[in-house]
Amino acid sequence: MKIDELFALLRRRGVLWPSAEIYGGAQGLYDYGPLGAALKRRVEDAWVAWFVGASRDYYLIDPVEILPEAVVRASGHLENFTDPEVTCENCHTDFRADTVLEKVRPEGVDGLTNPEIAEIIRAKGVKCPKCGSNALSVPKSFNLMFGLDFGVTGHDRVYLRPETAQSSYLAFPRMWDVGRRALPLGVAVVGKAYRNEIAPRQILFRMRSFTQAELQIFFDPERFPVPFDRVKEEKLPVVRAARRLAGSEEVEWTSAADLAGAGGLPEFYVYHLLHSYRFYRDVLRFPAEQLRLLEKSEQERAFYNRIHFDIEANLESLGGFREIGGVHYRGDYDLSRHGTGSGRDLSVTLTGGRSVLPHVLELTLGPDRAIWALADLHLVREGERTVWRLPAYLAPIAVGVFPLIEKAHAEYALRLADDLAAAGLSVQYDATSSIGRRYARMDEAGTPFGVTVDGDTLADGPAHDTVTVRERDSKGQTRVAVAELAARIELARRFPRPPSI
Ligand SMILES: [Zn+2]
Repeated sequence: MKIDELFALLRRRGVLWPSAEIYGGAQGLYDYGPLGAALKRRVEDAWVAWFVGASRDYYLIDPVEILPEAVVRASGHLENFTDPEVTCENCHTDFRADTVLEKVRPEGVDGLTNPEIAEIIRAKGVKCPKCGSNALSVPKSFNLMFGLDFGVTGHDRVYLRPETAQSSYLAFPRMWDVGRRALPLGVAVVGKAYRNEIAPRQILFRMRSFTQAELQIFFDPERFPVPFDRVKEEKLPVVRAARRLAGSEEVEWTSAADLAGAGGLPEFYVYHLLHSYRFYRDVLRFPAEQLRLLEKSEQERAFYNRIHFDIEANLESLGGFREIGGVHYRGDYDLSRHGTGSGRDLSVTLTGGRSVLPHVLELTLGPDRAIWALADLHLVREGERTVWRLPAYLAPIAVGVFPLIEKAHAEYALRLADDLAAAGLSVQYDATSSIGRRYARMDEAGTPFGVTVDGDTLADGPAHDTVTVRERDSKGQTRVAVAELAARIELARRFPRPPSI
């Protein structure tokens, strides 16, 4: 589907809509409705099960979203978290430099200085995209953080966090004491981050308020043991930076062993790249051929990242591959910067007495982007029918419950819906219109099971009650004993378990 068609469908079904819609909306802000909010929680819980569940030494924390200025100064965000912005001096519109240069420089402006960008604008005669005049300014650096006044006097400067990662770094010394005092130690956060984007666009893909799910793994740079032998034959769809610099973005299916051998990547990195890739393939169930792992070149990646792969999905609604996650080897940048900034040595002493400043491996997912991708890749039209083929464990509603004839079967069906809800399942009761229409509504919402109470339910006496269970994907209908129903649905709702590290 095209972006407008997909967004219209999601809005109509109450998955998401523009925030402050009655005031015309606010650029780059979206709200989730009932289906979207429930789906988002399932995606986040599946992420926690897969990433935090991978080791007994990985933990989920819930820190605040506000950072004191000293933190963002030490992290480098105050100085460097900027985008080059150009202003048209004729029509007074502000643009991101990469948007005005989209046609002449499709690879973007990462790594270029403002004077270098100004020179490209001059040399190529780039005009204002809005009024067509020649009056584009020299780029200025625009900081993407939202600053806030803090406290009664407002003299203390604080910032909405631009990434959740900083909260995990700040928590490291405390988590060292809370945990086993051993490396690797993982600290995960699922929460909001805020960026004052110059040009929000593509709905959930560039928002000003968005959610991040990030696991920071602190490890000993001399030793990060992973069960590499278990995964070495597995193949990954990679596009290496060298290949991209040579002008090709074609995927090369490369085994983990080759990436770590001739490919020159550390085994711990390849292992986690595969673990992340498997989340998209095996948990979100994106088709393998619609995924790729794109390596960023030295010029494109942040200077502190030693290795950086984006995980991208091919989305029809957004016209190609888009980043939905990443795997970043950040070295000791974070703890060394916060060590200097706070005046506190953040190195730790390992058993045996060696002192180490841990390195960081960061595994990230954008849950909002994942939701858009789940809609793009799994929401399909089949003739008259629209089906959201979500994995059963991600579906916002686990089961729909319908009385075949309201007068005769509503009482039983309502009681059954309550029992299933009491078993912890999300249930939707629907008694209106034909049974076909009710199935269709559930298909569109991605509900994997529809349960119909009918004349046969009560025929054989209470101990033998049965209902018709209709499966969304096969449309197949089977007779199931009511006594077994909750357990059967619960089984399908379990998140895939990760291999442990
Ligand atoms: Zn203009």
